[in-house]
Amino acid sequence: MADMPIRAVIAPVTPLQQNCTIVWCAKTLKAAVIDPGGEIPRLMKAIEDQGLTLEKIWITHGHMDHAGGAAELKRLTGVPIEGPHKDDQFWIDRIQESGEMYGIPEARIFVTDRWLDDGDVVTLGETQFEVLHCPGHTPGHVIFFHRQARFAQVGDVLFKGSIGRTDFPRGNHQDLLDAITGKLWPLGDDVQFVPGHGPMSTFGAERRSNPFVGDRAIEAMALQGKAYETPVNRSPG
Ligand SMILES: [Zn+2]
Ligand SMILES: [Zn+2]
Repeated sequence: MADMPIRAVIAPVTPLQQNCTIVWCAKTLKAAVIDPGGEIPRLMKAIEDQGLTLEKIWITHGHMDHAGGAAELKRLTGVPIEGPHKDDQFWIDRIQESGEMYGIPEARIFVTDRWLDDGDVVTLGETQFEVLHCPGHTPGHVIFFHRQARFAQVGDVLFKGSIGRTDFPRGNHQDLLDAITGKLWPLGDDVQFVPGHGPMSTFGAERRSNPFVGDRAIEAMALQGKAYETPVNRSPG
């Protein structure tokens, strides 16, 4: 892994154990925090312990467990917030009230410095990540993909063995299936991903065994049409 252009550490935050990830450019040690849902002092200490300089805050979607600490991290460090897609503004507006409901009272509304869209590129030190717009769990959900490192942070789009919930306001199950099969799968079976909650996996492993979006499930949906019964989704996000 010595020649890898990026490094990453996962730091689960909030009572929802959301996978906040610190990623950095191996050459310049410039770092981004993806989805700082909370526990900002702990995240800042981890950045310092690794000898990194924070350069960016990246947000996959507007849910409080992913974005509730963004405003505080920006206030303390002055670095810009990039993401999510503008269709998540209504979720950002609700961060404070949903934080109170879900046991994250310190969650705060933030103002992004840059809305992201499908095909955008975000830079970090001397390297860059590609942005894909993957709606369904929320309408403005984006994911961050590093092509050379075969690494993606996918938020609540896809989990090991499950997919994001779509029973929230403006959630859309078909949009989510289309985003996963139409945008994530073409990136390659070898891509390792950090989901919003729970353990890492690869796109290839999910294609083989995920009961919601694995190749067998997609095939059964096509064959059975309206008769197809989607398994019950008990995912954490
Ligand atoms: Zn989540
Ligand atoms: Zn979510």
